[in-house]
Amino acid sequence: MIVRKTAKEIASLREAGRVVAEAHARMRAAADVGSTMRQLDDITREVIREHGATSAFLGYQPHFAPTPFPGVICASVNDVVVHGFPDDEPLVDGDLVSIDVGIILDGWVGDAAVSFIVGEARPQDAALVQHTWDALDAGIAAAQPGNRMGDIGHAIESVAQQHGYGIPDGWGGHGVGRDMHEDPSVPNVGTPGRGMQLKPGLVIAIEPMFMAGGRTDFRIDDDGWTVRTSDGSRAAHTEHTIAITADGPVVLTER
Ligand code: MG
Repeated sequence: MIVRKTAKEIASLREAGRVVAEAHARMRAAADVGSTMRQLDDITREVIREHGATSAFLGYQPHFAPTPFPGVICASVNDVVVHGFPDDEPLVDGDLVSIDVGIILDGWVGDAAVSFIVGEARPQDAALVQHTWDALDAGIAAAQPGNRMGDIGHAIESVAQQHGYGIPDGWGGHGVGRDMHEDPSVPNVGTPGRGMQLKPGLVIAIEPMFMAGGRTDFRIDDDGWTVRTSDGSRAAHTEHTIAITADGPVVLTER
């Protein structure tokens, strides 16, 4: 069931989104060669505490997961696409880091992910990260009232195709509201003009995930969570929660 949000509810989602953006900014400022994902997870725990929020990730156990998620960030390094556990492994020069954060503030969810590189980037990694951000921008630009869901997926998919990246089969964005994963699903592939019509009040997370090797299949670690590229190539993941309004898309997860 799709629940469209009122302007007042979108304002509340915007406040939750600001907390997510602050967590990302503070982690980005701290992340460097030698940092661990556990340290970045601790930073987000502190941000969550300061705002009286809670984590949408910690303890989360969807149907596919054998154990509850152990952190407040998904920490996905190099060939990990999404859902990596924060650990004590120090980052090394050139690591490609993707971090996803979901928080709940006053009962409303904010959800966003960033990709970046610590130390000196390999050119192909810098390109992969930039193109994944470009795809997010393209997906958001397509999220106009009156457009259709397929327009968003097509915009994202087109960027991947242009550069030969793979999109993992079946993973994509989702509705956001009082729950982190609401209807509708927001695929990263699509046909222009197809799918449900986008109407004001729809709040969705748009989240391109690109795999450099160009494949669409992936592996899942024994932990049941960690999604990796099947060929060992690197992956990037970017995400914003946005509201569709009569005036166009509004990003909720910026500061
Ligand atoms: Mg997310």
